Amino acid sequence: MTTLQSWFAHPDFPLLICGPCSVESEQQMISTARALAAVPEVKLLRGGVWKPRTRPDGFEGRGEQGLEWLLKAKQETGLPIATEVATPEHVELALRYEVDALWIGARTVVNPFSVQQLADALRGHDIPVFVKNPVSPDLKLWMGAIERFLKAGLHQIAAIHRGFSYYKETPYRNFPMWEIPIELTQKMSIPVITDVSHICGNRELLLSTAQKAINLATDGLMVECHIDPDHALTDAQQQITPDALKEMLAQLHFRSRNAEGIEHDLTALRGEIDDIDSELLQLLARRMKVSQQIGRYKKTNNVTVVQMDRWKKILSNYRAVGEDLGLSPDLIEEVFEAIHQASIRSQSEIMDE
Ligand code: PEP
Ligand code: MN
Repeated sequence: MTTLQSWFAHPDFPLLICGPCSVESEQQMISTARALAAVPEVKLLRGGVWKPRTRPDGFEGRGEQGLEWLLKAKQETGLPIATEVATPEHVELALRYEVDALWIGARTVVNPFSVQQLADALRGHDIPVFVKNPVSPDLKLWMGAIERFLKAGLHQIAAIHRGFSYYKETPYRNFPMWEIPIELTQKMSIPVITDVSHICGNRELLLSTAQKAINLATDGLMVECHIDPDHALTDAQQQITPDALKEMLAQLHFRSRNAEGIEHDLTALRGEIDDIDSELLQLLARRMKVSQQIGRYKKTNNVTVVQMDRWKKILSNYRAVGEDLGLSPDLIEEVFEAIHQASIRSQSEIMDE
């Protein structure tokens, strides 16, 4: 079993990676690490020593000195350590200071040149690498970065979902867009862990976001922890104390990602879903036939395909009926918009015949 596999071996408990956003001082790193080592669920200690900042005048990390303190924290607690690397020089230094796992930050993953340089620098080193999602919601770019490491012969690769820049105001610092990491796990069989701290950007949303990630079968959680978060030099609003981490873990409802024990009960319920889906398919086909009849009638009588007023009335009626049935109006709108569009396409084809 590789190191990475052993970190993900627990079927009922996700890998927990904790530690400060930045390594700031020996005292800060060691005291945070000691407190985290007393939380048995924490398996990997993080600390950033090169900080990619959006603006140039912020704290940019302690560099090599930070690695010394990180290594000291490892020696004192026995916890393996992880840090972010963005250049081949970072890789070399991190390896020299016995860092056990590396992560590639969201701002680096957007640049295939940088990712390739890192992959080349890591060739021949069998170290776990966590690839964060790029800042932009671009699944192919994320997959491309992962593929560059795989192609360089690195086999211990996992992904980190840390949310995406979004054009609208949201309560999150980085909008989660959960469908993207889910699609990643469908396309590549690698573990995906959820960096709830960088998704949320605040402490209030951490618990509910971590619970959501667990419900969606995340393989791990990254939580930024600091002995004195209010005075942290970076990401102060989102970091929590090791005590707050313990409270959060106590409130989370962990779920098994292994359905074997309940397979029997699920079989019956899944059968029921299959029956319902088959009814839905029959109904959709019947609806389409009627819609095509209408299309032919419209053509004969020379009226347009789209009758927007009628459709708006129907849709608002369906939303109300759906709501009475306990269905969200958004769901009703999405489903019926898709059905309506398909009808329009089919009727337009009839008009063109
Ligand atoms: C971090 O983990 O501290 C960090 C800078 O994250 P990201 O690359 O996701 O912004
Ligand atoms: Mn951070």
